[in-house]
Amino acid sequence: MTPDARAPEWAERYSRQIILKEIGGQGQTRLGEAVVGLVADQEILVTTLLYLAGAGIGTLRLRHPDPARIAATIAWARDLNPTIRIEPSRTDGPLDSWLAGLELLIDLDQAWPDLHRVCHAARIPLLTTWSDADGLAWITGSKAYLDPALPCLACAPPPVNRSRLAEPWAGLWQGLAGTRLATEAIKYLLDIGDAAVWDHALGLDVTSGEPDRRARRNNPACPVCARPTPRPDTPGMTRMATTPLVREADAFLDITADTCPMTFVRVKLRLESMASGQTLRIRLSGGEPLMNVPRTLRDQGFKVSDPWNEDGLFGLLVEKTSDPG
Ligand SMILES: [Zn+2]
Repeated sequence: MTPDARAPEWAERYSRQIILKEIGGQGQTRLGEAVVGLVADQEILVTTLLYLAGAGIGTLRLRHPDPARIAATIAWARDLNPTIRIEPSRTDGPLDSWLAGLELLIDLDQAWPDLHRVCHAARIPLLTTWSDADGLAWITGSKAYLDPALPCLACAPPPVNRSRLAEPWAGLWQGLAGTRLATEAIKYLLDIGDAAVWDHALGLDVTSGEPDRRARRNNPACPVCARPTPRPDTPGMTRMATTPLVREADAFLDITADTCPMTFVRVKLRLESMASGQTLRIRLSGGEPLMNVPRTLRDQGFKVSDPWNEDGLFGLLVEKTSDPG
């Protein structure tokens, strides 16, 4: 349907957007065709949903542990714009079908650690938000699948601190972050404006209103988005994997706080609790742990990957063999 063929109510409803040269009738039509997902468990849903609904995003899919608890917010958004679709579903429902056809996912619940791998693989851009102890409301995003120079969320991970969502500034930063996320979503869908949200963390000081922006850098050894980058083997040094070998493991263990030989002891105990054939992903420090842990595991008959860089620390994959010697 061309914009001209729309009902007069359509032009009237969106007149303040259609009048903008960056949006116009075509942009407004594009928004009406867009499908955007929101993972919501917080008050921040109110501002984000209302702005996206008001802007005329055609389909808004919500994922919430108990959609009945956000029924009032959904009713408010439907009242604001009865011409769009709002589709709530439960967080424990199937994720694949929920993601299918999404053009953008907005994480309002610090859920990105569970979602960003699948979004990256499915080529769905992901926006997320958090606040910090200094009262800054932050947003950032990842569409690293498009461009290996862009960081994904695992390259430069935002902090995850759900308790902070209940702090005194919560109401204010959630309002600020919600409107900014909605704005970035519209900018992305229409390909307009500054695209800094994809390689920066964009902050706003809740008390002063001062903006802040911090570059987020691509990590060449990122386990989610890294491309193979061959590195020469150096004699006498631990041989490093050229690219992370692991996308998924059955279990994960962080031994960066341990010293040798407790590093190996903890790995050994963890492996004992696992079934044969399962894989354990380990995060360890350089120096002694990096020299000792892989070697000792190999000596004991486990299948061990070459280690890879993880932003100054190291990753390692161990497979529990049926009969380690
Ligand atoms: Zn990455």
